[in-house]
Amino acid sequence: MNPTLQPIFDEILARNPGESEFHQATRELLDSLGPVVARHPEYADAAILRRVCEPERQIIFRVPWVDDAGQVQLNRGFRVEFNSALGPYKGGLRFHPSVYLGIVKFLGFEQIFKNALTGMPIGGGKGGSDFDPKGRSDAEVMRFCQSFMTELYRHIGEYTDVPAGDIGVGGREIGYLFGQYKRITNRYESGVLTGKGIGWGGSLVRTEATGYGTVFFANEILKARKSSFEGQTVVVSGSGNVAIYAAEKATELGAIVVACSDSSGYVVDEKGLDLDLLKEVKEVRRERLSAYAEARESARFVAGGPDSSGSSGSSGSSVWDVPCDIALPCATQNELDGDHALTLARNGCTVVAEGANMPCTPAAVRVFAEAGIAFAPGKAANAGGVATSALEMQQNASRDSWSFAHTEERLEQIMVGIHARCLETAETYGVPGNYVAGANIAGFTRVADAMLALGVI
Ligand code: NAP
Repeated sequence: MNPTLQPIFDEILARNPGESEFHQATRELLDSLGPVVARHPEYADAAILRRVCEPERQIIFRVPWVDDAGQVQLNRGFRVEFNSALGPYKGGLRFHPSVYLGIVKFLGFEQIFKNALTGMPIGGGKGGSDFDPKGRSDAEVMRFCQSFMTELYRHIGEYTDVPAGDIGVGGREIGYLFGQYKRITNRYESGVLTGKGIGWGGSLVRTEATGYGTVFFANEILKARKSSFEGQTVVVSGSGNVAIYAAEKATELGAIVVACSDSSGYVVDEKGLDLDLLKEVKEVRRERLSAYAEARESARFVAGGPDSSGSSGSSGSSVWDVPCDIALPCATQNELDGDHALTLARNGCTVVAEGANMPCTPAAVRVFAEAGIAFAPGKAANAGGVATSALEMQQNASRDSWSFAHTEERLEQIMVGIHARCLETAETYGVPGNYVAGANIAGFTRVADAMLALGVI
């Protein structure tokens, strides 16, 4: 790390003890900013770096609710409003038992620069709860969402903070959250949440946006290498919102997606994933991935998939053992470690694009660089979700709804633009071809310039 940045990182460690994911995300950004501080002394003069690493506001609240057996349950809710220099705080809500302040801060921090990269007027934030929706009835999920919103509503609004979905928060949860917001405030304020249903203020393509956007970004990398998805073997991790639609777009572009995973294991399907079946198992029946293999002859299920600590699960194998040309990690943070990266390199993988947030560990990213594998960080590659959320906000503000084709075209243009911005910025700052540095510097400088203009606030 640049010696002028080390004291800033030391301060982050001291002020935010025990928040390892937040440390990892801030370190990854600071590691790229050496050439920026050398060229822009005004950022240091205004303490932009120290300020950008400190959330503007952090909210932690109690979420009590009653389960189907009449027992009182207790969870913790979070919203970290990280930076609003470019617009209202924008970022999803995650419901997963692993959620604590350090995860929400890492996600909120990433979100600032991702949102800046889209070129749209949105700041960065993130929230969630340690609530686990798995195995809960619809009625329990509804009661939890209503209790969560009963506190959150006072902190959000279309000009203040606009949450969306993330792990464990899909269309069903956004519906219950919006319903409770509307009830408490007595306002049909569509722009307060994104990821809404199509019939009540949502945008076409929002469901598909993150996965499609990741593939559009990877496609730009391939084009720059005079290649394409046609005939390539792809592995995705996860089988949630991002993974399913990444697999769908890659398949549409001519690739064969041979494997995906969930937290119980992974499936290999050499004929290419049957996406209708996958959606039925994961989106409709909300079952484990083994149900996919049971229903399809060409597929086999391997128990023990990757987990967020980067270990390979009880079977010792992971979805990254399946040979592929292109890898799309779309599950969760730190699910692809240095050993997995070595396996991918040995198997001839040429491109890795992060659909999830920070799924590759720093060791994995080093392996990709050494092996000449093109690596697209989530900040850039998965920005299509939030960009389409901003398109949803535009449609809400103008009381309009756009066609699927028009919205998808806008999404593709945005991803092409982000790719170009990353490459140009990397070139300008003397690190040509480095998407990590390009994304970090392009996102950071846009936020830093706005913070300079707005004064010390
Ligand atoms: P999702 O629909 O809830 O799906 C998450 C998938 O990842 C599921 O298959 C889940 O398996 C697996 N997973 C979650 N936590 C895991 C863990 N600790 N270990 C192993 N597998 C795990 O969530 P999503 O919206 O697709 O989000 C996936 C990633 O993309 C996250 O990093 C999220 O922050 C990022 N992202 C999402 C969006 C968006 O628009 N949704 C936008 C940008 C980035 P189980 O079903 O077994 O839990």
